[in-house]
Amino acid sequence: VNVFFRPIDKINSVIETYPKGIAGFRRYAALLDTEPDIADRPGAFDAPTLRGDISYRDVSFGYSGERPVLKSINLDIAAGQTIAFVGPSGAGKTTLCSLLPRFYEVDSGGIIIDGLDIRDMTLASLRGQIGIVQQDVFLFGGTIRENIAYGRLDAVESEIVEAARRARLDELIASLPEGLDTIIGERGVKLSGGQKQRLAIARMFLKNPTILILDEATSALDTQTEREIQQSLAELAQGRTTLVIAHRLATIRNADRIVVVADTGIVEQGPHDELVARGGAYSRLGAASD
Ligand code: ADP
Ligand code: MG
Repeated sequence: VNVFFRPIDKINSVIETYPKGIAGFRRYAALLDTEPDIADRPGAFDAPTLRGDISYRDVSFGYSGERPVLKSINLDIAAGQTIAFVGPSGAGKTTLCSLLPRFYEVDSGGIIIDGLDIRDMTLASLRGQIGIVQQDVFLFGGTIRENIAYGRLDAVESEIVEAARRARLDELIASLPEGLDTIIGERGVKLSGGQKQRLAIARMFLKNPTILILDEATSALDTQTEREIQQSLAELAQGRTTLVIAHRLATIRNADRIVVVADTGIVEQGPHDELVARGGAYSRLGAASD
């Protein structure tokens, strides 16, 4: 797969590199050949600690002028809720989530968090309160400690240990002679897909964002690992506003609300049982769901 194509991958990379500052982001964006044209507007202020009430108001967006990807999206998400986005591949689910940390600027309309337009906030204060976990976890060839601490660079040892425990990485760490100091990657121990996911989750426990975006893996993990990761993600989502690009029925069923994205817009939304009973787009999605 082309890891850099989908915007969510880019978001992750940028958020991951974020501690290095906007200069780092610009270099990275240049590398990816994308327009780093999103910057703090004059007079932008640092967002206060957010509760996480999100409102998309009449949002339209396209990557190029010719073809809109999203048209007039209206969506309200109450703080602490979990929303599952479903719909055919290419419908715009990832794009919709990508607009929240402002990796792309809306063409019209606006996104409001706690009553504040995200364009009025500094990027640092906005992105500092949004966490992302996606299927392709960005790891670098340092120690496990360093890789976890990437979630929040000023974290102290006890916080890193706690984050590892909450992500259920503690058993793995205990089994390694060098523990948290174990080097990972090409020159060290190779992590399994599930362990990489756990590392990403540990980072997010450390970062402790108000808003969480999860891009669920489509396959890859065995059922048991899958179930355990699912459990950790559910714990991570506790008390945060969570947007999940969902592939798994369990995730979808447990969401407070399901939003069906198709054909540049939201075609249906509601809780699972309600949508099934309605017999509309959601019920027809079935196996075709991406
Ligand atoms: P989904 O997540 O629902 O599969 P996406 O949001 O990834 O859909 O994609 C929506 C549409 O936008 C698709 O037609 C896709 O090809 C296009 N698209 C996605 N990312 C980019 C990008 N970085 N540049 C241009 N087009 C893109
Ligand atoms: Mg997607």
